[in-house]
Amino acid sequence: MLTNRGFSIGRWFGFNVRIDYSWFVIFALVLWTFSARVFPLEVPGYSTVAYASMGLVGTLLFFLSVLLHELSHSAMARRRGIEVEGITLFIFGGVAQTSMEAEEAIDEFLLTVVGPLSSIALAGLFWALSIGADFFALGEPTIAVATYLAWLNGILAAFNMLPGFPLDGGRIFRSTVWHFTGNLEKATRWASRGGRVVGYLLIGLGLFELFMGELVGGLWSAFIGWFLSNAADASWRQFRARQTLSRIPVSRVMVRDPVTLPEELPVDRAVEACFQRRPHSAYPVTREGRLVGMVSLDHVKEVPREKWAETTVHDLMRPIENVPTVNPRESLDEVISGLKMDEHSRILVVQDGVLLGVVTLGDIGAWVSRARDLGIDRKEEAVELAAAGSTDVGGTGGATAAGSSPEADTRTEGAG
Ligand SMILES: [Zn+2]
Repeated sequence: MLTNRGFSIGRWFGFNVRIDYSWFVIFALVLWTFSARVFPLEVPGYSTVAYASMGLVGTLLFFLSVLLHELSHSAMARRRGIEVEGITLFIFGGVAQTSMEAEEAIDEFLLTVVGPLSSIALAGLFWALSIGADFFALGEPTIAVATYLAWLNGILAAFNMLPGFPLDGGRIFRSTVWHFTGNLEKATRWASRGGRVVGYLLIGLGLFELFMGELVGGLWSAFIGWFLSNAADASWRQFRARQTLSRIPVSRVMVRDPVTLPEELPVDRAVEACFQRRPHSAYPVTREGRLVGMVSLDHVKEVPREKWAETTVHDLMRPIENVPTVNPRESLDEVISGLKMDEHSRILVVQDGVLLGVVTLGDIGAWVSRARDLGIDRKEEAVELAAAGSTDVGGTGGATAAGSSPEADTRTEGAG
Protein backbone atom coordinates (compact mmCIF):
# COMPACT_ATOMS: atom_id res chain seq x y z
CA MET A 1 0.00 0.00 0.00
CA LEU A 2 2.88 2.26 0.74
CA THR A 3 4.16 3.38 -2.62
CA ASN A 4 7.49 4.18 -0.95
CA ARG A 5 7.54 7.35 -2.97
CA GLY A 6 6.94 10.64 -1.32
CA PHE A 7 8.62 13.50 0.45
CA SER A 8 9.71 14.56 3.91
CA ILE A 9 7.85 17.31 5.78
CA GLY A 10 10.73 17.74 8.19
CA ARG A 11 11.60 16.53 11.65
CA TRP A 12 8.90 16.63 14.33
CA PHE A 13 10.25 16.15 17.88
CA GLY A 14 13.33 14.56 16.32
CA PHE A 15 11.42 12.13 14.10
CA ASN A 16 11.52 12.34 10.33
CA VAL A 17 7.96 12.62 9.00
CA ARG A 18 7.21 11.62 5.41
CA ILE A 19 4.15 11.93 3.22
CA ASP A 20 3.65 8.99 0.90
CA TYR A 21 2.03 9.98 -2.42
CA SER A 22 -0.86 7.59 -1.70
CA TRP A 23 -1.81 9.90 1.19
CA PHE A 24 -3.21 12.48 -1.25
CA VAL A 25 -6.01 10.03 -2.09
CA ILE A 26 -7.21 9.90 1.51
CA PHE A 27 -6.61 13.63 1.96
CA ALA A 28 -8.86 14.40 -1.02
CA LEU A 29 -11.49 11.90 0.16
CA VAL A 30 -11.62 13.35 3.69
CA LEU A 31 -11.66 16.93 2.38
CA TRP A 32 -14.53 16.11 0.03
CA THR A 33 -16.46 14.23 2.72
CA PHE A 34 -16.10 17.13 5.17
CA SER A 35 -16.81 19.97 2.71
CA ALA A 36 -19.56 18.43 0.60
CA ARG A 37 -21.28 15.98 2.95
CA VAL A 38 -20.60 16.36 6.67
CA PHE A 39 -20.64 20.10 7.36
CA PRO A 40 -23.50 21.07 4.99
CA LEU A 41 -25.59 18.50 6.90
CA GLU A 42 -24.37 19.49 10.39
CA VAL A 43 -24.69 23.26 9.99
CA PRO A 44 -26.97 24.10 7.06
CA GLY A 45 -27.29 27.55 5.52
CA TYR A 46 -23.68 28.63 4.90
CA SER A 47 -21.88 29.36 1.62
CA THR A 48 -19.79 26.87 -0.38
CA VAL A 49 -16.67 28.85 0.54
CA ALA A 50 -17.53 28.54 4.24
CA TYR A 51 -17.95 24.76 3.91
CA ALA A 52 -14.70 24.47 1.96
CA SER A 53 -12.86 26.40 4.71
CA MET A 54 -14.39 24.28 7.45
CA GLY A 55 -13.50 21.19 5.43
CA LEU A 56 -9.89 22.25 4.97
CA VAL A 57 -9.35 23.21 8.62
CA GLY A 58 -11.07 20.02 9.76
CA THR A 59 -9.03 17.84 7.38
CA LEU A 60 -5.70 19.40 8.40
CA LEU A 61 -6.55 19.04 12.11
CA PHE A 62 -7.64 15.46 11.53
CA PHE A 63 -4.31 14.48 9.93
CA LEU A 64 -2.48 16.42 12.60
CA SER A 65 -4.34 14.21 15.09
CA VAL A 66 -3.21 11.09 13.20
CA LEU A 67 0.35 12.41 13.23
CA LEU A 68 0.21 13.08 16.99
CA HIS A 69 -0.99 9.51 17.51
CA GLU A 70 2.07 8.23 15.57
CA LEU A 71 4.39 10.63 17.40
CA SER A 72 3.18 9.21 20.71
CA HIS A 73 4.13 5.67 19.56
CA SER A 74 7.51 6.95 18.39
CA ALA A 75 8.26 8.90 21.57
CA MET A 76 7.44 5.89 23.76
CA ALA A 77 9.50 3.60 21.51
CA ARG A 78 12.47 5.94 21.93
CA ARG A 79 11.95 6.00 25.70
CA ARG A 80 12.04 2.19 25.76
CA GLY A 81 15.27 2.10 23.77
CA ILE A 82 13.73 1.09 20.44
CA GLU A 83 15.14 3.04 17.53
CA VAL A 84 12.54 4.79 15.35
CA GLU A 85 13.32 5.17 11.67
CA GLY A 86 10.53 7.64 10.99
CA ILE A 87 6.83 8.23 10.53
CA THR A 88 4.99 7.98 7.22
CA LEU A 89 1.48 9.16 6.48
CA PHE A 90 -0.11 7.11 3.71
CA ILE A 91 -3.50 6.17 2.28
CA PHE A 92 -4.61 4.10 5.28
CA GLY A 93 -3.31 6.40 7.97
CA GLY A 94 0.09 6.51 9.56
CA VAL A 95 3.04 4.22 10.22
CA ALA A 96 5.74 4.71 12.84
CA GLN A 97 8.55 2.50 11.66
CA THR A 98 11.04 1.06 14.12
CA SER A 99 14.24 -0.69 13.17
CA MET A 100 13.66 -3.60 15.54
CA GLU A 101 10.88 -5.52 17.29
CA ALA A 102 10.29 -4.99 20.99
CA GLU A 103 12.18 -7.62 22.95
CA GLU A 104 9.91 -7.47 25.98
CA ALA A 105 6.12 -7.72 26.08
CA ILE A 106 5.97 -4.67 28.36
CA ASP A 107 7.80 -2.55 25.77
CA GLU A 108 5.40 -3.51 23.01
CA PHE A 109 2.43 -2.93 25.30
CA LEU A 110 3.57 0.54 26.38
CA LEU A 111 4.63 1.82 22.98
CA THR A 112 1.32 0.64 21.52
CA VAL A 113 -1.13 1.72 24.19
CA VAL A 114 -0.02 5.38 24.10
CA GLY A 115 -1.44 5.67 20.55
CA PRO A 116 -5.12 5.07 21.36
CA LEU A 117 -4.66 6.96 24.64
CA SER A 118 -3.42 10.04 22.80
CA SER A 119 -6.38 9.81 20.39
CA ILE A 120 -8.73 9.68 23.40
CA ALA A 121 -6.93 12.69 24.88
CA LEU A 122 -7.31 14.56 21.57
CA ALA A 123 -11.01 13.65 21.49
CA GLY A 124 -11.33 15.17 24.97
CA LEU A 125 -9.43 18.28 23.93
CA PHE A 126 -11.63 18.89 20.87
CA TRP A 127 -14.72 18.22 22.94
CA ALA A 128 -13.57 20.83 25.49
CA LEU A 129 -12.90 23.23 22.58
CA SER A 130 -16.43 22.74 21.28
CA ILE A 131 -17.84 23.53 24.73
CA GLY A 132 -15.55 26.58 24.97
CA ALA A 133 -16.53 27.75 21.48
CA ASP A 134 -20.16 27.42 22.46
CA PHE A 135 -19.55 29.35 25.69
CA PHE A 136 -17.69 32.18 23.93
CA ALA A 137 -20.28 32.20 21.14
CA LEU A 138 -17.62 31.55 18.49
CA GLY A 139 -20.21 30.54 15.97
CA GLU A 140 -21.67 27.35 14.61
CA PRO A 141 -18.85 26.49 12.16
CA THR A 142 -16.15 26.44 14.88
CA ILE A 143 -18.33 24.39 17.19
CA ALA A 144 -19.17 21.97 14.36
CA VAL A 145 -15.51 21.41 13.38
CA ALA A 146 -14.39 20.90 16.99
CA THR A 147 -17.29 18.54 17.74
CA TYR A 148 -16.67 16.49 14.64
CA LEU A 149 -12.94 16.19 15.36
CA ALA A 150 -13.71 15.05 18.91
CA TRP A 151 -15.95 12.38 17.45
CA LEU A 152 -13.36 11.35 14.80
CA ASN A 153 -10.54 11.00 17.32
CA GLY A 154 -12.83 8.84 19.43
CA ILE A 155 -13.51 6.63 16.39
CA LEU A 156 -9.79 6.53 15.59
CA ALA A 157 -9.05 5.26 19.11
CA ALA A 158 -11.90 2.72 19.00
CA PHE A 159 -11.08 1.42 15.54
CA ASN A 160 -7.39 1.00 16.30
CA MET A 161 -8.30 -0.90 19.45
CA LEU A 162 -9.93 -3.70 17.44
CA PRO A 163 -8.07 -6.85 18.50
CA GLY A 164 -6.42 -7.69 15.17
CA PHE A 165 -2.74 -7.50 14.35
CA PRO A 166 -1.24 -5.17 13.11
CA LEU A 167 -3.73 -2.69 14.57
CA ASP A 168 -2.89 -1.27 18.01
CA GLY A 169 -5.54 -3.48 19.60
CA GLY A 170 -3.94 -6.54 18.01
CA ARG A 171 -0.52 -5.52 19.34
CA ILE A 172 -1.91 -4.92 22.82
CA PHE A 173 -3.61 -8.32 22.63
CA ARG A 174 -0.36 -9.92 21.41
CA SER A 175 1.82 -8.35 24.09
CA THR A 176 -0.69 -9.36 26.79
CA VAL A 177 -0.81 -13.00 25.65
CA TRP A 178 2.97 -12.92 25.26
CA HIS A 179 3.40 -11.57 28.80
CA PHE A 180 1.14 -14.13 30.44
CA THR A 181 2.10 -17.23 28.40
CA GLY A 182 5.71 -16.36 27.58
CA ASN A 183 4.93 -17.70 24.13
CA LEU A 184 5.48 -15.08 21.45
CA GLU A 185 4.62 -17.47 18.62
CA LYS A 186 1.22 -18.36 20.04
CA ALA A 187 0.55 -14.68 20.80
CA THR A 188 1.46 -13.66 17.26
CA ARG A 189 -0.62 -16.45 15.69
CA TRP A 190 -3.74 -15.45 17.62
CA ALA A 191 -3.25 -11.74 17.01
CA SER A 192 -2.75 -12.35 13.27
CA ARG A 193 -5.89 -14.49 13.12
CA GLY A 194 -7.68 -11.64 14.88
CA GLY A 195 -6.43 -9.28 12.16
CA ARG A 196 -7.77 -11.56 9.45
CA VAL A 197 -11.17 -11.82 11.17
CA VAL A 198 -11.39 -8.03 11.57
CA GLY A 199 -10.42 -7.67 7.91
CA TYR A 200 -13.13 -10.09 6.72
CA LEU A 201 -15.73 -8.41 8.93
CA LEU A 202 -14.87 -5.05 7.39
CA ILE A 203 -15.17 -6.49 3.89
CA GLY A 204 -18.59 -7.88 4.90
CA LEU A 205 -19.58 -4.50 6.33
CA GLY A 206 -18.44 -2.81 3.13
CA LEU A 207 -20.55 -5.15 0.98
CA PHE A 208 -23.53 -4.49 3.23
CA GLU A 209 -23.03 -0.71 2.88
CA LEU A 210 -22.77 -1.08 -0.89
CA PHE A 211 -25.99 -3.05 -0.84
CA MET A 212 -27.59 -0.21 1.12
CA GLY A 213 -26.47 2.28 -1.52
CA GLU A 214 -23.45 3.72 0.38
CA LEU A 215 -21.02 3.60 -2.54
CA VAL A 216 -17.98 5.48 -1.17
CA GLY A 217 -18.29 4.27 2.43
CA GLY A 218 -18.88 0.68 1.31
CA LEU A 219 -15.93 0.57 -1.07
CA TRP A 220 -13.70 2.18 1.54
CA SER A 221 -14.63 -0.30 4.28
CA ALA A 222 -14.09 -3.24 1.94
CA PHE A 223 -10.77 -1.80 0.78
CA ILE A 224 -9.53 -1.36 4.34
CA GLY A 225 -10.72 -4.84 5.27
CA TRP A 226 -8.82 -6.30 2.37
CA PHE A 227 -5.71 -4.34 3.31
CA LEU A 228 -5.95 -5.36 6.95
CA SER A 229 -6.35 -9.09 6.26
CA ASN A 230 -3.36 -8.94 3.90
CA ALA A 231 -1.29 -7.09 6.47
CA ALA A 232 -2.21 -9.67 9.12
CA ASP A 233 -1.10 -12.51 6.81
CA ALA A 234 2.12 -10.73 5.95
CA SER A 235 2.89 -10.07 9.61
CA TRP A 236 2.50 -13.75 10.38
CA ARG A 237 4.68 -14.86 7.46
CA GLN A 238 7.36 -12.38 8.43
CA PHE A 239 7.25 -13.54 12.01
CA ARG A 240 7.72 -17.17 10.89
CA ALA A 241 10.50 -16.19 8.53
CA ARG A 242 12.34 -14.42 11.33
CA GLN A 243 11.86 -17.41 13.57
CA THR A 244 13.39 -19.67 10.94
CA LEU A 245 16.31 -17.31 10.54
CA SER A 246 16.78 -17.09 14.29
CA ARG A 247 17.40 -20.85 14.44
CA ILE A 248 20.12 -20.94 11.79
CA PRO A 249 23.70 -19.98 12.70
CA VAL A 250 25.55 -17.94 10.12
CA SER A 251 28.21 -20.67 9.91
CA ARG A 252 25.70 -22.89 8.06
CA VAL A 253 25.15 -20.36 5.33
CA MET A 254 28.49 -18.58 4.93
CA VAL A 255 30.74 -19.19 1.95
CA ARG A 256 33.90 -20.77 3.37
CA ASP A 257 37.48 -19.92 2.44
CA PRO A 258 36.74 -16.74 0.52
CA VAL A 259 39.34 -15.21 -1.77
CA THR A 260 41.54 -12.79 0.19
CA LEU A 261 44.10 -10.24 -0.91
CA PRO A 262 47.52 -9.92 0.79
CA GLU A 263 47.98 -6.34 1.99
CA GLU A 264 51.19 -5.73 0.02
CA LEU A 265 49.52 -6.55 -3.33
CA PRO A 266 49.56 -3.60 -5.77
CA VAL A 267 46.11 -2.36 -6.75
CA ASP A 268 46.56 -3.13 -10.47
CA ARG A 269 47.17 -6.80 -9.63
CA ALA A 270 44.18 -6.84 -7.28
CA VAL A 271 41.97 -5.43 -10.01
CA GLU A 272 43.22 -8.02 -12.49
CA ALA A 273 42.93 -10.95 -10.09
CA CYS A 274 39.68 -10.06 -8.37
CA PHE A 275 37.66 -6.98 -9.17
CA GLN A 276 37.67 -7.65 -12.91
CA ARG A 277 37.10 -11.40 -12.82
CA ARG A 278 34.93 -12.07 -9.84
CA PRO A 279 31.41 -10.97 -9.01
CA HIS A 280 32.11 -9.35 -5.63
CA SER A 281 32.81 -5.71 -5.00
CA ALA A 282 34.74 -6.12 -1.73
CA TYR A 283 37.51 -8.48 -0.53
CA PRO A 284 39.07 -9.27 2.84
CA VAL A 285 42.72 -8.23 3.21
CA THR A 286 45.29 -10.31 5.10
CA ARG A 287 48.77 -9.91 6.60
CA GLU A 288 50.59 -13.24 6.88
CA GLY A 289 47.28 -15.03 6.84
CA ARG A 290 45.63 -12.84 9.50
CA LEU A 291 42.67 -10.64 8.67
CA VAL A 292 43.55 -6.92 8.74
CA GLY A 293 40.89 -5.17 6.67
CA MET A 294 38.56 -5.04 3.74
CA VAL A 295 39.01 -3.34 0.37
CA SER A 296 36.16 -2.45 -1.98
CA LEU A 297 35.67 -1.33 -5.52
CA ASP A 298 34.73 2.12 -4.21
CA HIS A 299 38.18 2.42 -2.59
CA VAL A 300 39.84 1.43 -5.88
CA LYS A 301 37.80 3.95 -7.86
CA GLU A 302 39.16 6.79 -5.72
CA VAL A 303 42.69 6.18 -7.05
CA PRO A 304 43.61 7.35 -10.57
CA ARG A 305 44.45 4.47 -12.85
CA GLU A 306 48.09 5.54 -13.43
CA LYS A 307 48.74 5.26 -9.68
CA TRP A 308 47.44 1.68 -9.38
CA ALA A 309 50.87 0.06 -9.77
CA GLU A 310 52.47 2.09 -6.99
CA THR A 311 49.53 1.81 -4.55
CA THR A 312 49.04 -1.27 -2.37
CA VAL A 313 45.82 -2.78 -1.13
CA HIS A 314 46.94 -1.79 2.38
CA ASP A 315 46.92 1.89 1.41
CA LEU A 316 43.25 1.69 0.43
CA MET A 317 41.70 -0.81 2.77
CA ARG A 318 39.30 -0.11 5.61
CA PRO A 319 41.05 -1.41 8.76
CA ILE A 320 39.40 -4.40 10.40
CA GLU A 321 38.32 -2.37 13.48
CA ASN A 322 35.96 -0.46 11.19
CA VAL A 323 34.63 -3.44 9.26
CA PRO A 324 31.44 -5.10 10.53
CA THR A 325 32.11 -8.72 11.42
CA VAL A 326 29.99 -11.45 12.95
CA ASN A 327 30.66 -14.51 15.04
CA PRO A 328 29.90 -17.88 13.33
CA ARG A 329 27.41 -18.78 16.08
CA GLU A 330 25.26 -15.69 15.53
CA SER A 331 21.86 -16.38 13.98
CA LEU A 332 20.89 -15.13 10.54
CA ASP A 333 18.19 -13.09 12.21
CA GLU A 334 20.78 -11.27 14.34
CA VAL A 335 22.99 -10.75 11.32
CA ILE A 336 20.22 -9.22 9.24
CA SER A 337 18.78 -6.98 11.93
CA GLY A 338 22.05 -6.01 13.59
CA LEU A 339 23.92 -4.93 10.49
CA LYS A 340 22.29 -2.62 8.03
CA MET A 341 23.01 -4.98 5.16
CA ASP A 342 22.25 -4.01 1.63
CA GLU A 343 22.28 -6.59 -1.12
CA HIS A 344 25.91 -5.91 -2.03
CA SER A 345 27.50 -5.86 1.39
CA ARG A 346 29.65 -8.83 2.33
CA ILE A 347 29.77 -9.59 6.02
CA LEU A 348 32.94 -11.23 7.33
CA VAL A 349 32.50 -14.20 9.65
CA VAL A 350 35.38 -14.07 12.10
CA GLN A 351 36.39 -16.07 15.16
CA ASP A 352 39.39 -15.08 17.31
CA GLY A 353 40.73 -12.88 14.53
CA VAL A 354 40.58 -15.67 11.97
CA LEU A 355 38.43 -15.26 8.85
CA LEU A 356 36.17 -18.30 8.49
CA GLY A 357 33.88 -17.16 5.70
CA VAL A 358 31.81 -14.44 4.09
CA VAL A 359 28.06 -14.02 3.86
CA THR A 360 25.81 -11.75 1.79
CA LEU A 361 22.10 -11.09 1.89
CA GLY A 362 21.94 -12.95 -1.44
CA ASP A 363 23.60 -16.01 0.15
CA ILE A 364 21.01 -16.00 2.93
CA GLY A 365 18.10 -15.68 0.50
CA ALA A 366 19.51 -18.42 -1.74
CA TRP A 367 20.14 -20.73 1.20
CA VAL A 368 16.60 -20.30 2.50
CA SER A 369 15.03 -20.90 -0.91
CA ARG A 370 17.18 -24.05 -1.44
CA ALA A 371 16.16 -25.29 2.00
CA ARG A 372 12.57 -24.71 1.00
CA ASP A 373 12.94 -26.53 -2.33
CA LEU A 374 14.43 -29.47 -0.49
CA GLY A 375 11.52 -29.46 1.93
CA ILE A 376 13.73 -28.63 4.90
CA ASP A 377 11.56 -25.66 5.63
CA ARG A 378 7.83 -25.51 5.77
CA LYS A 379 6.14 -23.64 3.00
CA GLU A 380 4.71 -20.87 5.11
CA GLU A 381 8.16 -20.02 6.36
CA ALA A 382 9.02 -18.53 2.99
CA VAL A 383 11.36 -15.76 3.84
CA GLU A 384 10.49 -12.22 3.10
CA LEU A 385 13.70 -10.33 3.53
CA ALA A 386 12.05 -7.01 2.92
CA ALA A 387 12.04 -4.44 5.67
CA ALA A 388 9.11 -4.52 8.03
CA GLY A 389 6.67 -2.31 9.95
CA SER A 390 3.32 -2.21 11.79
CA THR A 391 0.13 -0.35 11.13
CA ASP A 392 -2.66 1.79 12.47
CA VAL A 393 -5.95 2.53 10.82
CA GLY A 394 -8.54 5.17 11.32
CA GLY A 395 -12.08 5.79 10.30
CA THR A 396 -14.81 8.32 9.75
CA GLY A 397 -18.46 7.44 9.36
CA GLY A 398 -17.94 3.97 7.94
CA ALA A 399 -14.61 4.87 6.41
CA THR A 400 -11.58 3.43 8.16
CA ALA A 401 -7.88 2.88 7.46
CA ALA A 402 -5.03 0.52 8.42
CA GLY A 403 -1.24 0.00 7.92
CA SER A 404 1.22 -2.91 7.55
CA SER A 405 4.07 -4.51 9.45
CA PRO A 406 7.43 -5.96 8.22
CA GLU A 407 10.83 -7.17 9.56
CA ALA A 408 11.23 -4.20 11.79
CA ASP A 409 8.19 -2.81 13.33
CA THR A 410 5.82 -0.19 12.11
CA ARG A 411 2.49 1.10 13.18
CA THR A 412 -0.17 2.94 11.28
CA GLU A 413 -3.16 5.10 12.09
CA GLY A 414 -5.97 5.50 9.68
CA ALA A 415 -8.15 8.14 8.32
CA GLY A 416 -11.32 7.71 6.44
ZN1 LIG B 1 -1.49 3.39 16.76
